[in-house]
Amino acid sequence: MKDVYILAVETSCDETSLAIVKNGKEVIGLEVYTQMDTHALYGGVVPEIASRMHTEAITLVLESLLNKTKFDLKNIDAIAVTYAPGLMGGLLVGIEFAKTLSFIYKKPLIKVNHMVGHIYANNIEDNLEFPLLAMVVSGGHTELVEMTGDYKFKLLGSTLDDAIGEAYDKVARVMNVPYPGGPNVEKLAKDGNVCYELGKPVNDDSFNFSYSGLKSSVINLVHNMNQRNEEININDLAASFQYYAVDEITRKIDLALSKNEYKMVVLAGGVSANMYLREEVKKVTDKYNVRLCVPRMLYCTDNAAMIGAAAYPLFIQGKNIADFSLNAKSHISTVE
Ligand code: AMP
Ligand code: MG
Repeated sequence: MKDVYILAVETSCDETSLAIVKNGKEVIGLEVYTQMDTHALYGGVVPEIASRMHTEAITLVLESLLNKTKFDLKNIDAIAVTYAPGLMGGLLVGIEFAKTLSFIYKKPLIKVNHMVGHIYANNIEDNLEFPLLAMVVSGGHTELVEMTGDYKFKLLGSTLDDAIGEAYDKVARVMNVPYPGGPNVEKLAKDGNVCYELGKPVNDDSFNFSYSGLKSSVINLVHNMNQRNEEININDLAASFQYYAVDEITRKIDLALSKNEYKMVVLAGGVSANMYLREEVKKVTDKYNVRLCVPRMLYCTDNAAMIGAAAYPLFIQGKNIADFSLNAKSHISTVE
């Protein structure tokens, strides 16, 4: 079969990223321009600034990608773009850019769900083997998804309130931990002990998650201790929060593995960069003798290579081909 080259565009949050991916697996080139330093000045991602920075950067990022790879865009087979979920302004910049390229080069435009991209990041250096269990952990999603084939999803459960990454970020704020909250809480937790009793999340045998109770217990604890002028051990609090947050994830994966046979478990989304989470999930998958797959750091955080990887089966199956009226969506589930 003829090789398929896909140009992928990712602008859903604060990274302007473009990639050329061959046959959904071989990353010919990947550029990631991060705006993190700018947003750090404001303590979090400012959507309006993010959109403007995508607009400023995206053509230069393409120029850099083409210079480095010496790839002639005439040889591209399709243009893939993240259309959801994410920040509206950023998504629109990427979509308009992808539409223009699709129009000029007369190549199909493929719309890709960013969360599915995170799952397919696992197919770049490893191979997805079905049926698999995907644990999607990000700033906006906590979803346990079963996959029985390419794009054959079943949502087993999701968060009833906050997402795990959101909980990390909110807890970081109340603890005065600088942006980016998640990675900094993880760093603090490394030197802490689990000694604060924080509300245990709902312990039922559904596959749903809940993080608002845990978040509130951290907020209440900090407020109460501040009122009493008691000193908080920030490392211990980070370690305690992280223990309860990850325990929720491992319990649900354990439950799913006890009920069904899976070839592998994959972690997807920004929070899968967390080493403690990876280690704890590994203990569960080892218990059931199931393989755990986590992308390398570059493919774990937002990047266009994963969008190119996720677009390949769509190209082959002729699915998700968009017309020029394609628009962005801020909120969708992994399985939509
Ligand atoms: P995403 O929504 O997939 O772009 O991932 C971003 C989310 O992942 C944010 O909520 C981050 O705080 C969180 N995150 C990134 N790295 C880590 C980490 N090492 N530990 C915990 N959370 C993290
Ligand atoms: Mg992401």
